[in-house]
Parts: sequence; C-alpha cells; structure tokens
Amino acid sequence: MAAGPGILIIDISSTTRRNLITALQQSAPFSTYHSCSSGKEALSLARNNATDVILCGTTLSDMRGVKLLRQLQQDEDLRDIPVIILTGQCTTAQKLTLIEQGANDYLVMPFDSGELIARVKVQLKMKTLHDNLKRSNRLLLTLSSTDSLTRLYNRRMLMQTLSREVERHSRSDQVLSVLMLDIDHFKNINDTFGHLNGDKVLVAIAKVLKRYLRPYDIATRFGGEEFVLVLPNTTAKHAMDVAERLREAVEEITFDGELRELTVTTSIGIACYPRPGIDGVDDLLKAADEALYHAKNTGRNRVASCCDAEQATDHSADDTPSSAVPTL
Ligand code: GH3
Ligand code: MG
Ligand code: MG
Repeated sequence: MAAGPGILIIDISSTTRRNLITALQQSAPFSTYHSCSSGKEALSLARNNATDVILCGTTLSDMRGVKLLRQLQQDEDLRDIPVIILTGQCTTAQKLTLIEQGANDYLVMPFDSGELIARVKVQLKMKTLHDNLKRSNRLLLTLSSTDSLTRLYNRRMLMQTLSREVERHSRSDQVLSVLMLDIDHFKNINDTFGHLNGDKVLVAIAKVLKRYLRPYDIATRFGGEEFVLVLPNTTAKHAMDVAERLREAVEEITFDGELRELTVTTSIGIACYPRPGIDGVDDLLKAADEALYHAKNTGRNRVASCCDAEQATDHSADDTPSSAVPTL
C-alpha cells in the first residue's frame, strides 16, 4: 500500500522541530514526520522519503534557509515540493522576498498552531493536485505514443525517435539500422480466421519483437500489419542477424484454439544510416520499404537489405526480366 503524505521539518532548534511536530500531529494528515537541523541532511531526507511539504527555518546548522531553497529548486526531483519558510518577525517586504526566492508560503515564529495547520494543509492540497496533474500528463503521454492493441510505440513515436537517432548518428561514426517487418498474406489470416484472431496474431508478434530487442532498440507499429524497429549503433551485418532471428522467432510462434494450425511468416526490409543517398528519416524509411518490397517479391518469408534492393534495381536495368525482379 502507498505510504501516506510525509512532511520534512528543518530547523536549527530541536525544540522548535519537536514543537512543530507535536502541533501538526494534532490534526495534520501526515503519516511520516522527518526532521533535521542541516540543509545537507534535509536534501538527503527529501530524496529518500516521500516528502509532500517542507517547513524550513531561515538559519540552519550548515547554511541559510534560502540557500537550501535554491538547492531544492535546482533539483528536478525535489523542486515541486512546497516549502513554507519559518521566519522571525519581519517586514512585509522581507516576507515577499522569501516568496520571490521560491518559498511557497511563510509562517511567522513563534507559530500559532491553528495557522500552522491551515497553511500546511493548503500546501499539501496544492502538492496533491500537482502530483495528480503530473500523473495524468504521464498517462496522456503514454497513450499518445502507444499503439493500443499491441502496446508497442506508435508511428508518432517512431517519427520522433527516428529524427532524434538520425540526428545523433549524423554526428557519430556509428550506424543506425531500421527494420521494416510486414506479415505475409495477413489478409488471408483475417479472411480465414476472422479479424479478432488477426488481432491475436498482431499481439503475438509484438510480444516476440519486445522479447528479442535490446533495451535501447525501439519497436513500433507502423500501421496495419507492419512494424518498424529502430536499432541504434547497429551495423547492416548485425541488423541482418537480428532480422533473421526475428523472422525465425515469428515463424516458430505457436497459437492455440482456432489458430493452432497456423504458421505466420514475415518479410523484413533493412536500411541503414548513414549511407549515400539517404539524407534523413524519409529516405531511410523509403529505403527500408524498398528492401521490404524486394523481400516480398523474391518469395516472402525472408530478409532483404536496401543493398540487395539496389542491386536488384541495377540488375533489372541490365538483363533481368521485369517480371522476375521488381523495378524499385
Ligand atoms: P503481403 O504478404 O503482400 O503483405 O499481403 P498481406 O495480405 O499481408 O497484405 P495486404 O496489404 O493485402 O493486407 C493487409 C491486411 O491487414 C488488410 C487489413 O485488413 C489487415 N489489417 C490492418 N490492420 C489490422 C488490424 O489492426 N487488425 C487486423 N486483424 N487486421 C488488420
Ligand atoms: Mg502491409
Ligand atoms: Mg502483409
């Protein structure tokens, strides 16, 4: 079960810390209380414990409260925790300066218990709303980048990833490989076993792709029964091995029920970057598509690279009958 909200209290005086905790325990909804006197320890406590509100004195044992405030703001994991600064009697201008420096609120010491609890509850509520918003945003991001049937990344994510990887590989001496995989005669599978069974085949293939790829490879559903895999730092030769393994693994999938007799095969086209004539994402996908087309036209259930496709084009221009080798 998830732990309830936690509060962190930082002040040089142990009496103040104790009094604050005692007052909060009367009616504030925290299940964990941590306290310390130094900024350094505070950062460690905040990092390692669920912390939803911080109460921070202006003078700590090792730094000023505003310095800790700055350090919290510079830390991506901690900057969203609301901080209430505990001030002595001070002018409105001084209080406003604290807010400008990043404090979410202030509490004048010696504190009034009712005011303390009210101010802490407001900050806790803001933090809860903020956390919920962040969770919703993360979910939206996942939904907008994932294919709902196979749970692979979708085409939108593919285009983003490819742009980034092409850019990255253009500045390195590594090779980027792209595999375009298409199920052979998938229409027949739908026609014979129905669309829902066709979906089961898509899901089973997606599982194989996820299982076989390295953590930094990306498998995406390009559309329909086509998948595109992005393999960073992978030579054409290595990509060929990966593709061959995937092709075999898909062929070995066993299904149950109505599909128990079914063997699914795939054709895979490979293209690499950098390569002469391939200047960007569109060229790379086009080359992979041409290689896939070549694999289809030379019998299906096979892997072809864009080099094979190019040779076939050259060849067809010379003496090969156009019905045997496609013009690409
Ligand atoms: P080829 O070997 O040349 O690739 O032939 P194919 O039959 O696989 O290719 P074709 O493009 O003729 O047919 C693809 C089929 O994929 C047609 C379409 O109805 C089906 N399809 C596309 N998306 C889905 C889906 O999400 N679920 C199911 N079940 N079928 C789909
Ligand atoms: Mg297709
Ligand atoms: Mg197909």
